[in-house]
Amino acid sequence: MMLLHTCDQCTQEADHHIEKADHSVMHLCWDCYNAYLCEHMGLDITKYAHPKTITIGRQRFKVKMEIYQDGVIYYAYKGKQDALQTISFTAPFAMDGKLAIEELKQRISKLLIPPTIMEDGLLSPLGVIGVEYDEESYDELAFVLDGERYDYDEFLELLLDYRGSNLIYIAEPRLPALDAQWFGNEEQLLSGTKDEDL
Ligand SMILES: [Zn+2]
Repeated sequence: MMLLHTCDQCTQEADHHIEKADHSVMHLCWDCYNAYLCEHMGLDITKYAHPKTITIGRQRFKVKMEIYQDGVIYYAYKGKQDALQTISFTAPFAMDGKLAIEELKQRISKLLIPPTIMEDGLLSPLGVIGVEYDEESYDELAFVLDGERYDYDEFLELLLDYRGSNLIYIAEPRLPALDAQWFGNEEQLLSGTKDEDL
């Protein structure tokens, strides 16, 4: 178990731990990590500012933003400890936070709010199936539909009705566990996409 660290830049708890070339470790909170990446990538973080919560219909979602090598990921989620109901949108760096949040809102109202499992127990033609790491299950894999976990067998059972169908999907990042700790190496992190050319 990792000892808790305070962020090197502010007073929040750090959840990103980055090893520098001299082997010292920088501890950053989620926000300061985003700011650190923007600074090194020459991006203006204020462009990606977003509201902390958004309301759609009568439902309230929290929003988190994460700077990534290829763009900016905006996550909407519900719940405190295990935010099972979540959806994301990855925006290109050129898109500002305001526009990205509009897209995220549309995704919530089209995909996340309408139930994925309909009253007759069948899958809705459009929905969200989360694929989660689940330490507690034998397979270490769980599926999340409408904020409920399904194990491997339960999920396959659902798919039985879909023999003869294509399920067309969009893969997108899922909100990381809210208590997750992230470890990285500064050199690899800042070399970014070049990393993958071998
Ligand atoms: Zn901080």
